[in-house]
Amino acid sequence: MTQDMPDGHRRPPAVGSALRRAPVAGGISHRRTAGPRREVLVACVAVALLVPLSLPAASGAQTREEVELAAYGSASDAVPEVLEQDGTSTDARAEVRKLLAAQETRREREKEEAERAAEEKREAERAAEEAEQVEAAEKEAERAEQADSGPSFVRPADGRFTSGFGARWGSHHSGIDIANSIGTPIVSVTGGTVVEAGPASGFGLWVKVRHDDGTVTVYGHMDRILVGAGQRVGAGEQIATIGNRGHSTGPHLHFEVWQGGQTPIDPVGWLAERGVSVR
Ligand SMILES: [Zn+2]
Repeated sequence: MTQDMPDGHRRPPAVGSALRRAPVAGGISHRRTAGPRREVLVACVAVALLVPLSLPAASGAQTREEVELAAYGSASDAVPEVLEQDGTSTDARAEVRKLLAAQETRREREKEEAERAAEEKREAERAAEEAEQVEAAEKEAERAEQADSGPSFVRPADGRFTSGFGARWGSHHSGIDIANSIGTPIVSVTGGTVVEAGPASGFGLWVKVRHDDGTVTVYGHMDRILVGAGQRVGAGEQIATIGNRGHSTGPHLHFEVWQGGQTPIDPVGWLAERGVSVR
């Protein structure tokens, strides 16, 4: 049992009572005793008890808390010890750990996303490069094709235009004649497929080429044939050489154009429409 005192200190009630009663006879005992000897003894005991209890207050420099802390060691040593064992503190540490883990996870995710974005960018750049290369290759192929094919139409042979299409000497001349020396190259006037190559009545030898629009061109009197039936030929590709075979009055190329593959038409007009002059 303790008792609050006006000076803020606690003392056993018996002592307080003794202090209050010190000058008075009767002291601390409930039992009534009498006599000066007993009162003196009581006062001595009271003083003996009071002195140690009053010392902290007398020193003035320390509060009771400081005294208690001193018993555990310095304040700085004691506080972490207390925090270490504190439940709230442990929760806070777990929270911090969770926060740090979350931050780490977020950083890793951001790093992965950045790497993925970079990879996608590289992929897009590669795709763009490939697309450019494909486009360049296509353009190159187109140019090459145009270069290979050259002009779409050419004259069938170099030489002198000696006879036109139409009535001649009481008969019908179904083509034109271009005179030149034997062995002069004869070429296909445009791209097509050789449909006949060999001997033919009146022509000596002939070559017939069917073009993509169904028109057939006919070449006659040649000395040598250089292609075979079924062979694909391009515009200006050599198919034979000028000769003097069949009903011929000298080395020349007899050239015909069969519209629709059947009806002979004037080759001069047909070639002129395609930018080729033979006269
Ligand atoms: Zn002719």
